[in-house]
Amino acid sequence: MDSKWRIMALLAGLAGLTGLATVAHAAPGGVRVAVAQEGVRVAVAQEGVRVAVAPQGQDLAASDDVVVTVTMTNTTGATQYLLAWQTPFGREVEAPLFEVMRDGAPVPYLGIQAKRPAPRPSDYIALAPGASRSASVELSALYDMRAGGAYSVRWRAGAARLYSRPGTPQPGMLAEPEAPAIVRVARQPGAAAATPALPPAPAEGGGLSYSRCSNAQQGTIVQAVEAAQAMAQDGEAYMQKKALAARYTGWFGAVEAQRATTVAQHFAAIREAFQARPVTVDCGCNEAYYAYVYPNQPYRIYVCRAFWDAPPAGTDSQGGTLVHEMSHFTVVAGTDDWAYGQDAAAALAADDPARAVDNADSHEYFGENTPYQAKGSEVSRVSGRRGQSPVLLLEGL
Ligand SMILES: [Zn+2]
Repeated sequence: MDSKWRIMALLAGLAGLTGLATVAHAAPGGVRVAVAQEGVRVAVAQEGVRVAVAPQGQDLAASDDVVVTVTMTNTTGATQYLLAWQTPFGREVEAPLFEVMRDGAPVPYLGIQAKRPAPRPSDYIALAPGASRSASVELSALYDMRAGGAYSVRWRAGAARLYSRPGTPQPGMLAEPEAPAIVRVARQPGAAAATPALPPAPAEGGGLSYSRCSNAQQGTIVQAVEAAQAMAQDGEAYMQKKALAARYTGWFGAVEAQRATTVAQHFAAIREAFQARPVTVDCGCNEAYYAYVYPNQPYRIYVCRAFWDAPPAGTDSQGGTLVHEMSHFTVVAGTDDWAYGQDAAAALAADDPARAVDNADSHEYFGENTPYQAKGSEVSRVSGRRGQSPVLLLEGL
């Protein structure tokens, strides 16, 4: 991916950016709508960090790379802090930062999803009031854009929590997502209607294999996989009891039938994958974070430096990391990373349960169950005696 990846970050004042001179006018609901000169339509909240995605070409040949310019602008009167890995301003894009559709259908993300520690203040990029920062991103290296058609591209909404820097009194503000930009890619000459690439079919048969792992590392991984299997089995069994209490609500929020069914399916699939699918652990990663996967390449998990320092089980453990990563695979649970760390995951459960059931760390913490949460029936009794609603019970957190 390195060679395909091109990035040019530059700092510029908004007025200095060509193609971004905007015309603002009032729209219903107090939202300003800005229309960029190149036809990129941007809806922004009253204040926040505005993210504009502008294609560098809109009518492309089949052989062209699809490149967009991403510009983040602080429209507030206070310095805003951008979590570096949620921006295109790092070395590479390492998260699905864009929503790409082709002729109305979602386009698979081909890049990595990682397990990272909860962000520290040094992980943030300061953006002064009124300042903008831009980078070019080769989108076709991150999304499968080989097929001809009309692609719509926009910044993914909703990860605003990731922009709140710890210790900053004011929460990070991400403006309302913009309307998508359109890029048309011509069909290959002579090609029939292109079919999108399907993810590789899950291989049959279980078993654990290694890539680039020392003998000592292999021994550690055997224990980590055993811990992950135990967590997945325990999580699945808890969900099957259908007596959801603090352990569930603490990580996935208010009990609602559809979401609970989703979580139960996720844990059944995670358990099945560890038990019956060919899992490969690759030890060649030298990044500081825990691990990563390519979501559409099951069941290969790349473990990185933080993994080796983690305990076998418990919070942010080796076993839990493997549960986190297994949940990312599209054929398993297809989770995303909406919040990292226990504090952020607990807050996500409380105020955005729909995202919590799609958040990998939430699955990890539910699986790790540390601090220990009693079985459903025990806690149901406790909460019943206290007269509490089962909506949110964060005992022991
Ligand atoms: Zn992840």
